[in-house]
Amino acid sequence: PLALAVATTSTTCPYCGVGCGVSASMKDDGRIGIQGDAQHPANFGRLCVKGSALGETVDLDGRLLHPQLRDAQGQLQQLAWDQALDHVASKFSAIIAEHGPDAVALYVSGQLLTEDYYIANKLMKGYIGSANIDTNSRLCMSSAVAGHKRAFGEDLVPVCYEDLELADLVVLVGSNAAWCHPILFQRIARLKETRPALRLVVIDPRRTATCELADLHLPIKPGTDVWLFNGLMSYLAHRGLRDNAFIEAHTKGFDEALAVADADCADPATVARLCKIDLKDLLAFYEAFANTEKVVTGFSMGVNQSSAGTDKVNSIINCHLATGRIGKPGMGPFSITGQPNAMGGREVGGLANMLAAHMDLDQPLHRQIVQDFWQSPRIADKPGLKAVDMFRAIEEGRIKAVWIMATNPMVSLPDADLVQRALQKCELVVSSDVITQTDTNALAHVLLPALAWGEKDGTVTNSERRISRQRAFLSAPGEARGDWRIICDVARRMGFDGFDFAGPHEIFDEHARLSAHRNGEADASRVRRVFNLAGLTGMDRAAYDALAPIQWPVQRLSDGSVSGTARVLEDHRFSHADGRARFVPTAPRSAAHAACEDYPLILNTGRVRDHWHTMTRTGRSATLASHIPESFIDIHPQDALLYGVREGGLARISSRWGAMVARVQHGGGIARGSVFVPIHWNGQSASDARVGAVVNPVVDPVSGEPEFKHTPVAIEEF
Ligand code: SF4
Repeated sequence: PLALAVATTSTTCPYCGVGCGVSASMKDDGRIGIQGDAQHPANFGRLCVKGSALGETVDLDGRLLHPQLRDAQGQLQQLAWDQALDHVASKFSAIIAEHGPDAVALYVSGQLLTEDYYIANKLMKGYIGSANIDTNSRLCMSSAVAGHKRAFGEDLVPVCYEDLELADLVVLVGSNAAWCHPILFQRIARLKETRPALRLVVIDPRRTATCELADLHLPIKPGTDVWLFNGLMSYLAHRGLRDNAFIEAHTKGFDEALAVADADCADPATVARLCKIDLKDLLAFYEAFANTEKVVTGFSMGVNQSSAGTDKVNSIINCHLATGRIGKPGMGPFSITGQPNAMGGREVGGLANMLAAHMDLDQPLHRQIVQDFWQSPRIADKPGLKAVDMFRAIEEGRIKAVWIMATNPMVSLPDADLVQRALQKCELVVSSDVITQTDTNALAHVLLPALAWGEKDGTVTNSERRISRQRAFLSAPGEARGDWRIICDVARRMGFDGFDFAGPHEIFDEHARLSAHRNGEADASRVRRVFNLAGLTGMDRAAYDALAPIQWPVQRLSDGSVSGTARVLEDHRFSHADGRARFVPTAPRSAAHAACEDYPLILNTGRVRDHWHTMTRTGRSATLASHIPESFIDIHPQDALLYGVREGGLARISSRWGAMVARVQHGGGIARGSVFVPIHWNGQSASDARVGAVVNPVVDPVSGEPEFKHTPVAIEEF
């Protein structure tokens, strides 16, 4: 693509939820120069290796540049935009007319910009009239959303990055931040240099790169987090370390939650045995938490991606509520989001069980408020199917058309072979993407060329709920179009009003106005919604173009003053109707599938440092590929000996759901009884390295988030 006329463009990294600011410029040799944006409060000019290599990933190799339709012989044929859009709109309309609105679905992505997400959600819930829109963020942080809603009454984010710097104890649970959120981790590392009293506890079954900085590492047995935090709650409660005044004034349900915690976890020795950690280490953690006022507990995929993910989240929040350590500087539970715009997606209702602007599908008044604002012909009145169930419904023929945007479910979803069967059976598979050849696109009937990072314009929201602009600095290649525009084009062809926008600035304005629409109106479920972008309405194109990164509702400021979310939490009025936070009783339960004779090892999955998702972008960079050039199975040397696989040789791991092949390695800090495989590699290589095919499709009953960290598997030499 050609560079646009601007010399240097401030934009945002498209990878992890840290949301670093990037300055992109054109070098004399025509290549794209990338630097950290010194003005951006997420990174103050720093970038990790993935962000630094962004300039190596913007070439057009393999790009999808024109709409394509698969012919009767299975060959993709180029066609004009008008024909492609007419085809998608008419097929969707015909299926809805014959089978009803729940016979179609959208499966979207945390890679979409907020404006794209908003339009997709509006089309599906307000015009088609179904909530069958879900996102790959379901695989990432939906347990955190569900935990927040249960505890706070709203998906509040009670911590910002600055709180990490004010804390005296940082606890990271199920988070390899050194690799997965590098710039946030480096902030903690620099602080430890200047403030040695700051302690870091890492709770993770693996000894990861993050543990190198830790004062204490608790290598818990996979899936035992609830036992650990119930034990902490019990320890705090019975040693006079709880904050009775806070509990009395601002919460509900303490006694019930404590009774459940006490039932299995009152004795630290029992907890240590169940979690398979040293009692001395367990007590060291409990004492550190109990005796440190300023504690931030950061958690990530090791907590969320579990059949008990929501309970894990609430068991952590319970400990912060029990000590009153929330809504104060340097304290609180903190969900570190995986994707660049997982947060923006949840703000506009990109999950199948949410409406826009953090309103609830199951609340009649909320549905009325959204429909009233949109003036839409209908509004979905029941939750749609969450990601795993959505593809199951496609496989069973209940959903007959699916439009996939900016994601590759054939690789990334659990039980990925079922996803393959589903897409093979589906009457209409539409894929909006930037790359032609992916595992998913090989099964699509229609490919729609979307704009990529560097070409598209809009906003993203990071883990601390800071809204930043992604700005275009490259021209649109071929016939590629922004996702919001493609969706609007189809919506209009389906006969719907409400999709005429001159640009993303108008969509952002509508989204901001909706968040403020009738906000504060009393209803049975909630007194008010904290999420309110009233202060960001009315921006014209120029103001939107110039928008600096901003936390909104604004949180704690560097001079110590607060507003927005933090103020709500500072006066400790939460979003439940009575203004009180809820303790949630979290009865510990084991992972859905235990190791057995046939499948004796537990598969854990996750990211590596230099790759992102299914590598459609990072795979283009020689710099990034050199860190870890191929997929691997990390296994303890004694287990390798036991199961007859050799380091450096190929092995096949299999589960009840599928199999994959990769090279065996040691040294990844894995305990006996487990294996670790990265999520990135796909089925396009000679041997199918899709770990998604092996992962079990069990989900958390509240959040619907899959259990990516605990699948029983067997291993054999390949
Ligand atoms: Fe990008 Fe995350 Fe690295 Fe920042 S830390 S540069 S957002 S990948």
